[in-house]
Amino acid sequence: MASREELEARLAATQRRLDELNAEGASNEDKMRRSQAREVRLLQAESIDTLIIALIDGLRVSYGVEYVSVVICDSDHDIRHLLLANGTPVEDFKDLVMVESISGMAPQYIALQKPWLGAYAACDHQLICPNVKDARSIAMIPLRHRGKLLGSINLCSSDPHRFTRDHAHDFLSHLGVIASFCIENTVNRARLLRSGFTDVLTGWNNRRYLGVRLVEELARARRDGSSLVCLMLDIDHFKRVNDTWGHAAGDAVLRELAQRIESQVRASDVAARYGGEEFIVLLPNTESRSASLLAERIRTSVSAAPVDIPHDEQVTVTVSIGIAEVSPSPGDDDLKTLGDSLIARADVALYEAKSAGRDRVVVEAA
Ligand code: GH3
Ligand code: MG
Ligand code: MG
Repeated sequence: MASREELEARLAATQRRLDELNAEGASNEDKMRRSQAREVRLLQAESIDTLIIALIDGLRVSYGVEYVSVVICDSDHDIRHLLLANGTPVEDFKDLVMVESISGMAPQYIALQKPWLGAYAACDHQLICPNVKDARSIAMIPLRHRGKLLGSINLCSSDPHRFTRDHAHDFLSHLGVIASFCIENTVNRARLLRSGFTDVLTGWNNRRYLGVRLVEELARARRDGSSLVCLMLDIDHFKRVNDTWGHAAGDAVLRELAQRIESQVRASDVAARYGGEEFIVLLPNTESRSASLLAERIRTSVSAAPVDIPHDEQVTVTVSIGIAEVSPSPGDDDLKTLGDSLIARADVALYEAKSAGRDRVVVEAA
């Protein structure tokens, strides 16, 4: 039989274990609460840029680590363009690593199903943590999209014992799932907003986008003392295409023409579908003479080859193009009206091209 001392010792040990478990429970509860608060902050981010800030700066503060970076695979430059359209280029986020492919970024990426915790090694981790200093341990939390690894959130600490293989990673796993969801969600939201500027049929910019960019380009021309040219293109007798071959054929012609025009213009030019079968191209820092050469190239690229339309048919179309130019002076304040008059003048030149027999380029009279 156990002695009284033995029983008292056992009781004291049991009490200690109970106290330990209580403390652990309280600490887990506290951890859970903090973890939930972190996730709510991510879920509240309404745009990609605020989400990235919440991930990089927010997690650094809330985990009390020295450095956080985020790696995201953006193979078709979609996220990059959405950020740019939002006025926050990727380069503004120095610890956001946007890559076309994640292969070769870190050896752990080959099998990063769960968070990887362990020693920081510059040779393995410097690509994913480009600006880190004095890191001794790292937690790489996978970001996944439809079962594929999209990148990672990387928490770096100068404490070698902060992230080790023996640490539990349930909370970090959960954070990774939430962060992946938030990335997808904010990207989709940005795409939706952007679609307000996109023509669904051709995938080109639409009239609304043109209106915004026209004012921007006029402001730039005013600042640089340069000129801006407006090409207005209209398909000749387009109604006949619809009437003869149907609207699906007309749509195919619109799509193909958008591509032919696009292949002739520079990335810095602004091309948009202005209306039904009308397109506008703005040429910054250009004069009418070189613009009319470009317009001729576009005109011949349209008439030179027939367009494939449904049912293995083909149709040849032509375009008429009107050109107007403006050199805003420092005193031009009302750029919206200046832009409207530039388009109206290009439209007058286009009307002349139509009256003169179509399939031609007319530069407005000086
Ligand atoms: P013109 O040479 O004087 O420009 O003659 P047109 O027939 O091209 O001009 P009009 O303005 O009479 O007709 C334009 C046609 O474009 C009428 C309209 O049904 C068609 N259209 C406008 N938007 C679309 C579209 O998205 N798809 C198709 N298939 N047709 C369109
Ligand atoms: Mg028209
Ligand atoms: Mg027309």
